[in-house]
Amino acid sequence: MASTVQTKTDLAHQCCIQPSCGATYDIGQVRTSCDACGSLLDILYDWESLPVPKSLAEFEAKWSRRHEPLSFSGVWRFRDLLPFAPPEKIVTIGEGQTLLHASDGVARFVGVSAGKLHLQYEGMNPSGSFKDNGMSAAFSHAHMIGARRAACASTGNTSASLALYCGVSKLMQAIIFIGSGKISYGKLSQALDYGALTIQIAGDFDDAMHRVQQVSQKEGIYLVNSVNPFRLEGQKTIMFRVLEALRWQVPDWIVVPGGNLGNSSAFGKAFHELHELGLVDRLPRLAVINAAGADTLYQLYEKRGLRWNGGRSDAALVNNYYAELDDAHRRASTIASAIEINRPVNLSKCLRALEWMNGVVREVTDEQMLDAKAQVGAHGLGCEPASAASVAGAKMLREEGVIEPGERVVCILTGHQLKDPTATVAYH
Ligand SMILES: *Cc1c(COP(=O)(O)O)cnc(C)c1O
Ligand SMILES: [Zn+2]
Repeated sequence: MASTVQTKTDLAHQCCIQPSCGATYDIGQVRTSCDACGSLLDILYDWESLPVPKSLAEFEAKWSRRHEPLSFSGVWRFRDLLPFAPPEKIVTIGEGQTLLHASDGVARFVGVSAGKLHLQYEGMNPSGSFKDNGMSAAFSHAHMIGARRAACASTGNTSASLALYCGVSKLMQAIIFIGSGKISYGKLSQALDYGALTIQIAGDFDDAMHRVQQVSQKEGIYLVNSVNPFRLEGQKTIMFRVLEALRWQVPDWIVVPGGNLGNSSAFGKAFHELHELGLVDRLPRLAVINAAGADTLYQLYEKRGLRWNGGRSDAALVNNYYAELDDAHRRASTIASAIEINRPVNLSKCLRALEWMNGVVREVTDEQMLDAKAQVGAHGLGCEPASAASVAGAKMLREEGVIEPGERVVCILTGHQLKDPTATVAYH
């Protein structure tokens, strides 16, 4: 059950995302869903009583204080926009030192004008993927409430990230559930090297996710998968850094691979909040790209018309779809192991983000992803297969005319080139 500790502020709380429910919970509680209705939770803030910057450019003042760990961190220099943790409880290892690269070579491949295609290379994080943005936030919350053990199910990068934060801080023991044979050696080797207890279970990620939720509930272990609402607070900062790199100008498109749909959900919340706070005047459009072998979101959103619909989305559509998957014994299958997920835990939040950001969803084949990955590599950045779904998806949307040649497009490169060298060598 949820453990409660006294938190010294009531300026942040957990809130059910379902507008017709709206139940709230203290941030001292550990929970991944609403007791009243089972929906996912958001972290919401009492902005009126908090020191919110008047413009995003105010964050630039933090650059002159880079000797302070919280101003150096690419997550925590934006802490005014995720103010749930007292500074002394924040655990940072210098995550989020990532850069936005304009790539004219990749722009040509995608089909947009020179200068318009940007790659946000999250592979530069300490454990080599964007997961560190969210892990720093969830880990800080775990530390706030005094957790001693933290667990996740992982296709590889969440486990590498959790294991790293545990290894550096020695605050918690990491317990990791992976599906059998479903993890690249680059990622598995990180978890082992950082000293995590690594448990392989018979089955795939969806099975591992189910198991870890049961076990952590039963044993009172802190769960750091992206059902954890604090993780998504950290992942909002990827968007803040994109804006920072564009000198606070909003791009036209954010294109991101979709797996468990944590990133897309966090990006939606980031822009929704910035807009509510009057810090941006418009929202970019969102494109979420599935692998064709793990395309639940694509099928539901584009083929069956599932929408958030202000919180009144059609649950039967989802349940029927999952029943069909089960009847056909269909399992997720793609070379992009980081997005090899058929039951994305953040589906409802992602639908909400798609509504807020006038989003689209596409699916790309393994071949399209690997071709795009080779282009990213050839132009000097490199990424893992799943990351290249963003570039392959942008190219597809450009060919369809959904993205215009003159629009500013930001593709998120979610993981480092060296995460999965086997796929790269096999391709070449
Ligand atoms: C986790 C991960 C994804 C999927 O992100 P979601 O937030 O689960 O949709 C994509 N690419 C890489 C490299 C990842 O590690
Ligand atoms: Zn609820």
